[in-house]
Amino acid sequence: MFWPATKICGQTKEKLVAEGYCVKCKAKKEIANAQEVTMKNGRPAIQGVCPDCGTKIFSIQSSKKS
Ligand SMILES: [Zn+2]
Repeated sequence: MFWPATKICGQTKEKLVAEGYCVKCKAKKEIANAQEVTMKNGRPAIQGVCPDCGTKIFSIQSSKKS
């Protein structure tokens, strides 16, 4: 699904872009439907699916900022 950027009540929703390793494709993929989640230990992570095969990808965010 892809449609032009839509403004939602003046609020800009930042698109979450994250990379994760797909175990099925055995390659790094840009995570589709990426969602920010927090793990039990409080660390932030990104959860989503592989755009090619639909396998769940879970990417732990490192604390270092670029
Ligand atoms: Zn995949």
